[in-house]
Amino acid sequence: MAVYNSPMPILMILVLAAACLPVPWPRPFESLDAAATAAITGLFVLGSILISALGCARVVRLIPEDRGAAVSLYYRLRRRVSLLNLWGSVALVFGGWGWAVRESATDERGRLTPFAEVLVPGPYLALLLASWFIWFFAERALHRGGMRAQAFWTLPAYVAQQARQFVLLLFLPVLLIATQQTISRYFPELADSALYQLASVFVAFGLLLILPLFIKPLLGLKKMPDGPIRDRLTAAAVRLRFRCRDWLLWPTRGLVANAMIVGVLPRARFVIFTDRLLESLDPPELDAVVGHEIGHARHGHIPYYFAFFGLSSLVGGTLLTLVESSAGWPDGVAEFGLLLAVAGLGVYIFFVFGFLSRLCERQADLVGVRAASCADPYCGGHSDETVLADGGRAICPAGVHAMVRALDVVMNLSGLDRPERGSWKQWVAAWWKSWQHGPPSHRIDFLLSLIERPERAARHDRYAFRIRLALMLLLVGALILAATALGRDEFVRQL
Ligand SMILES: [Zn+2]
Ligand SMILES: [Zn+2]
Repeated sequence: MAVYNSPMPILMILVLAAACLPVPWPRPFESLDAAATAAITGLFVLGSILISALGCARVVRLIPEDRGAAVSLYYRLRRRVSLLNLWGSVALVFGGWGWAVRESATDERGRLTPFAEVLVPGPYLALLLASWFIWFFAERALHRGGMRAQAFWTLPAYVAQQARQFVLLLFLPVLLIATQQTISRYFPELADSALYQLASVFVAFGLLLILPLFIKPLLGLKKMPDGPIRDRLTAAAVRLRFRCRDWLLWPTRGLVANAMIVGVLPRARFVIFTDRLLESLDPPELDAVVGHEIGHARHGHIPYYFAFFGLSSLVGGTLLTLVESSAGWPDGVAEFGLLLAVAGLGVYIFFVFGFLSRLCERQADLVGVRAASCADPYCGGHSDETVLADGGRAICPAGVHAMVRALDVVMNLSGLDRPERGSWKQWVAAWWKSWQHGPPSHRIDFLLSLIERPERAARHDRYAFRIRLALMLLLVGALILAATALGRDEFVRQL
């Protein structure tokens, strides 16, 4: 939900979850056995660690000579290594590692050992863990070369900080899936009972609603201290009629520049700012960023995303049962049916959810503009005395510029330059890097166009509303059709 985030947590959770499903992963090339596959996997992990370590050493050496070049080299390295780790791990899982785990980690009755599915995405998780120990040295060196007075984390504190985020955001969902899989393997009668299924849906929803209440201790967040920043946030919330349980400060010692909103219910909802972002924004930019986060709540994006993923997986699951129970997979495809389904899910998420997410981010950007705007559509800039528009209904040039500057700040702090438009390769790279939010240049061009044509804002909101409604109706329609084709009893059973 952040203004700008590159690691794509939603996609990551889905990829990790898919890796834990009981998929008949393909066998490796004929001559390879499980041990050889494990050896190749180990070599890839070591190779990637070596590349990161050498790259980090270069960053550290470069800092005294050219700090700017070192910073951009560091972020480039991190992006490339993350992509290498992700796609390398996917290739390994498809190329034999997934099969090797399902083949070797079994008990005497041939069942997969409890929680062994976590080993399938294991190479990726191991690389993630190793990367904390490597990035630490580059981060610390960059911190020392910078202007910050505060001491940097120690290695154990740094790793603990990364581990907290990892467990809460990525590993907890994966662990829940592995638990559910383990139960259905070892206690199939229990897993088939309606009571158990009802209870697991209940637990999943309960966790989603309640988890935000624990995010403060889990991530080591602090209450936003009293002062001008807190007053500014509170004033923006009053203007935009937004309620949350508290404003939180995430002390990262300058490591992360981000803002996010977590939770759905006002009483269990927080807006979080990292220290780095807060100290980099001037007051109008702060209005724009908090407006962006409030925009996600105002337009109901979080519950919408949950409904989208819930309905999509129901439709997908029903279609899968339908294919299996009626015609069955065509010859030669049967073996890879579930695999194809997982790949199809990936494509669906990339295109459909990617499109939806960019639509919603633009809605949030527009609330950001409105949060920083006065009632005069031709205003020539704001002073300390300017009264900002109530209800977040107006758009003015100063508000647009505040949002654009805020995006620039977040981008620079995340090591992303505003990409120049030029070759198609740059264009593809820009889209790839900012799949969930759209390329920054696109976002900024659209925002700047509002100065001349403010009516484009309301038009986008209407457009987004219609598309979101149509998508929901389409999903519900598809579910009804698929469920009817399957028959009621069969449909209820596969739930
Ligand atoms: Zn956002
Ligand atoms: Zn103004």
